[in-house]
Amino acid sequence: MTAATRTGTAIDVGIPTVRTAPSTAGRPDVPELIDTFGRTARDLRVSITEKCSLRCTYCMPAEGLPAIPSARLLTGDEIVRLVGIAVHRLGVREVRFTGGEPLMRRDLEGIVAGCAEHVPGVPLSMTTNAVGLEHRAAALARAGLGRINVSLDTVDRAHFAELTRRDRLGSVLAGIRAAQDAGLAPLKINAVLMQETLSGAVELLQWCIEAGCELRFIEQMPLDADHEWARENMVDAQTLLDVLGARFDLRAIGRDDPSAPAEEWLVDGGPATVGIIASVTRSFCEECDRTRLTAEGTVRSCLFSDREVDLRAALRSGADDEELAQSWRAAMWDKWAGHGINAAGFVPPQRSMGAIGG
Ligand code: SF4
Repeated sequence: MTAATRTGTAIDVGIPTVRTAPSTAGRPDVPELIDTFGRTARDLRVSITEKCSLRCTYCMPAEGLPAIPSARLLTGDEIVRLVGIAVHRLGVREVRFTGGEPLMRRDLEGIVAGCAEHVPGVPLSMTTNAVGLEHRAAALARAGLGRINVSLDTVDRAHFAELTRRDRLGSVLAGIRAAQDAGLAPLKINAVLMQETLSGAVELLQWCIEAGCELRFIEQMPLDADHEWARENMVDAQTLLDVLGARFDLRAIGRDDPSAPAEEWLVDGGPATVGIIASVTRSFCEECDRTRLTAEGTVRSCLFSDREVDLRAALRSGADDEELAQSWRAAMWDKWAGHGINAAGFVPPQRSMGAIGG
């Protein structure tokens, strides 16, 4: 049986039907994860669970996402093996663990340690809501985690509870302090830019400057589980700049590198900065260098593409590393040009952000 015929498992949980490995017609015979638009994926996002400890209104329904049976989640050893294939055979240079919420997995420290051993020298990071992180930050740093991004939209307790449907701000702030004490740096804060967060944007930036965190605002994309996103309601980067500019002196300093999603501004002459990820109004899809692995082991070449390729089924039916690598290459050769949010007839993907991994 070839790797291509091993794929093709149907997956539910509000999740698209997974296709057989797409055609690689016309693809040059190179090991890297190239696509037909001239891009090469070097940055791997690995979702390790769909579960989350919060219920952010723009991400998850109040009742949470349908649970994925544990047998359909990648095991820790499978994650380590696939990360190794991505690095050793496909040219991936950095790995970020996402969810859902990665801290919901008890074996997170083991996954990090396994990856650190299997792909030494490759930066390992995590996007987290930081709930409960105070008890695990030191162990994660010892396991080999290098840095974290914390998703945090407000430091006002009542507003936090309203946005996340959980009164857990205290745990988040304790987690941030513990991560800093453990040396997980630089610590970045990601805030979703919405009408609800615009009024607190100045206070959040001030708090981040004082706490020694790098704040980035992210334009909201149509990846909410309730499908309530509407272009006319979204707050764009320019509106935020107007609000922050009324309080702070902002000087544009551009991007770290062309594929970095955040544009940066120096705040009050520095050294503090604020970033904006203008995913919708200043799309950076042309420079995208990301590949994604979902918690069930499918390759998702783009956040917005429901065309996924199932590596878990192939892996569990005995595919060797090179067969898995070849399926991954095929998935990326099939990558879309970009999200197409601004095009007429745009249709959001079936999976919400929580079910993809941020
Ligand atoms: S929408 Fe797709 S192509 Fe664009 S930056 Fe995100 S993952 Fe990359």
